[in-house]
Amino acid sequence: MPLRTPPTFEWVIRGLIGDTSNMSDMLEEVHDWLDENWDPDLSVARWWELLGLAGWAAPTYPTNAYGRGVSRGDAVLVANAISEHGALNAPGGLGLLLAGPTIAEHGTPDQIERYVRDIVTGKKAWCQLFSEPGAGSDLAGLQAKAEQDGEEWMVNGQKVWTSAGHIADLGMLIARTDSTVPKHQGISYFAIEMDQPGVDVRPLREMTGRALFNEVFLTDARVADDAMISGKGNGWAVANSTLAYERSGLGAGGGSQSTSAATPGTIAGDLAKRAGDFVTARAPKKQPSPSKGETADGATTRRERSTPRLSGLADRLAKIAEQNGMIADATIRADLVRLHSLGEIGRINNLRVKGARASGATIPGMGNISKLSMSHLVRLQRDLGLRIVGANGMLHAYDAADRAAITEATGMPMLGVITELALFAQAPPIYGGTDQIQRNIIGERVLGLPKEPNNDRVTPFAELPKNV
Ligand SMILES: Cc1cc2nc3c(=O)[nH]c(=O)nc-3n(C[C@H](O)[C@H](O)[C@H](O)COP(=O)(O)OP(=O)(O)OC[C@H]3O[C@@H](n4cnc5c(N)ncnc54)[C@H](O)[C@@H]3O)c2cc1C
Repeated sequence: MPLRTPPTFEWVIRGLIGDTSNMSDMLEEVHDWLDENWDPDLSVARWWELLGLAGWAAPTYPTNAYGRGVSRGDAVLVANAISEHGALNAPGGLGLLLAGPTIAEHGTPDQIERYVRDIVTGKKAWCQLFSEPGAGSDLAGLQAKAEQDGEEWMVNGQKVWTSAGHIADLGMLIARTDSTVPKHQGISYFAIEMDQPGVDVRPLREMTGRALFNEVFLTDARVADDAMISGKGNGWAVANSTLAYERSGLGAGGGSQSTSAATPGTIAGDLAKRAGDFVTARAPKKQPSPSKGETADGATTRRERSTPRLSGLADRLAKIAEQNGMIADATIRADLVRLHSLGEIGRINNLRVKGARASGATIPGMGNISKLSMSHLVRLQRDLGLRIVGANGMLHAYDAADRAAITEATGMPMLGVITELALFAQAPPIYGGTDQIQRNIIGERVLGLPKEPNNDRVTPFAELPKNV
């Protein structure tokens, strides 16, 4: 009997989760579809329409909502195949990440048609109107209220940390529609139009120098009754779906999914532009199989031989450390391997989720665990990157001209990425639910530990003490 190459861990996991030939077929289908349809001279709007309606913009969505019902890991392979082909990738943003899957899960067929179609085709951009000055971790304590006025609801209140609110056509709004019931029961979920006199969006500048998020003031803002997702008082369950998509989408382990350089929605102004202007020209290339560098019998391929020793950023940091001599420091080498390992653990966990899902099971708390893991990863990237570049790490560029000057002075083209990641590293442990809240959820809902004592599940919201 011939000797086989010893199986890698990934190969064993693939053995456990079963045949990947369906994915190979799907990737083949994507490549054929791209050969037929990608044309750099199409407008962004037209290209995204073709991509979205074919089910390639959001393959994880169910088949009745412009998706193909595949796992997140497989969707990463599809997105990477689109990029490798040299085509413009799917519209990114909170519409595709959060609003689309939430409405696909909780919306009516009419709402799926009205909202999800415009999300997968990039026609409309979305923001998430959840957090308030007094309601972040304690989101169910929110005070923005919506009162019924005929066929419409009138909304008053303030939201904060609204990422991309300044370029959003629509917002996922949660507002209080009944204060006489306990706080989780009196919340409703709406799709609100942002372009109206009652919605005032004001940018907030963060320490990276960018203004990614905003505060949003709602003053007699209007939202139609048929824009309520899942009925009055059911908003908490719908919001929890959005938060679950946020945790799993932002957590470690999704692989490095290619994202579009063009911005969706009517405000950013990219829809009428030429799609080809958003991609770097390259020769179309086919990836024959979803496996990374290994054929079914374990033999290595050309792709594996060119694979870097470490994954992603760890590999690039190692190269800088080799150039400036920091690699001689054993603690730097140990942290490089730690960074690589965290990325790999996330990737393997993602395969575990896929395997569990294939057999109809779930792994409780995995979304929370992968979000916590992402927090560790970004903190390690921050600390390790800054240690490797040393005093140069104090030079952060706030615009393109500064970036070019700093690159020239230091001879480090990666410096801007390292300082940007270091400054932004504070954000992932906060957004989508802080690290402490993830641990609370794992403790209470997964490990069955006793909840913190409080009576907010039985007391009417109007009688509870308020945060502000
Ligand atoms: C970059 C960024 C983008 C964001 N984008 C959006 C967005 O688009 N839309 C949106 O709605 N929100 C957004 N947020 C807001 C985010 O969801 C909140 O910041 C987060 O939920 C924390 O709420 P908070 O800021 O009010 O902090 P608080 O809830 O006031 O928490 C303060 C501290 O107390 C701790 N804490 C609170 N309660 C508990 C508890 N019960 N047990 C243990 N510790 C606790 C927290 O962990 C934290 O350390 C964004 C935040 C960031 C940083």
